[in-house]
Amino acid sequence: MTTRAKLVAANWKMNGNRAENERWLQHFLAAPARCAAVVCPPYPYVPQVVEALARGACGVGAQNLSEHAAGAWTGEVSAQMLVDCGVSWVIVGHSERRAACGETNEIVAHKAQRAVAAGLRPIVCVGETLQEREQGRTQQVVAAQLDAVLRVCTVAQVLPGAIAYEPVWAIGTGRTASPQQAQEVHAAIRRQLAQHDAAGAAALRLLYGGSVKPGNAAELFAQDDIDGGLIGGASLVAADFLAICAAAS
Ligand code: PEP
Repeated sequence: MTTRAKLVAANWKMNGNRAENERWLQHFLAAPARCAAVVCPPYPYVPQVVEALARGACGVGAQNLSEHAAGAWTGEVSAQMLVDCGVSWVIVGHSERRAACGETNEIVAHKAQRAVAAGLRPIVCVGETLQEREQGRTQQVVAAQLDAVLRVCTVAQVLPGAIAYEPVWAIGTGRTASPQQAQEVHAAIRRQLAQHDAAGAAALRLLYGGSVKPGNAAELFAQDDIDGGLIGGASLVAADFLAICAAAS
């Protein structure tokens, strides 16, 4: 049996400022490391977080990257620039970007391809809307999102990163998928990966995201195919993020 070390990633979204980040980082660094962790600040604070976390084992991630390599793409940030700034992880295809910025499955797949080509560890997000779940289309929607990525990246290329299952109806709503609901989708994702690469599928970390809190993290992380979490709201409070990391350990 493959043992997958748990991973917990903080997605700060468009929150924070230099002073708040500093307090968060001091609090985080003062605590013992409980599991592998990644912090994904907004772009302008990447240097601050990279510098603060340089001495520890915690990774730094970006929340997005461009699907393009370089050039006249005003406001965009390339994979190579992220690497140049000390970033090693990147969130790809978060549902907020799929919904608000028109990121299709194909765009997300190209972003994943850019990320792995640059040596970044992608956290590829997939997940269904409430309407899609109520229509019984969860597996189909998630499989199509993953399939687009697997058409351009191998499982081995994604393996240093993770897949994050984030049901859209659970993100920032306080409504969490039950451990059984999450496990069911995670198991389906792993079966789909195994059709391409059985060993890679067994080793790739599958994170759950969607209103994970200190109080529900342990039960979610205890499921066979849940290898940690992608944490939004609760990651803004260092003590809560640390408690979630402790639940993963
Ligand atoms: C997210 O945005 O990836 C997320 C999981 O958010 P929250 O934890 O706030 O639901």
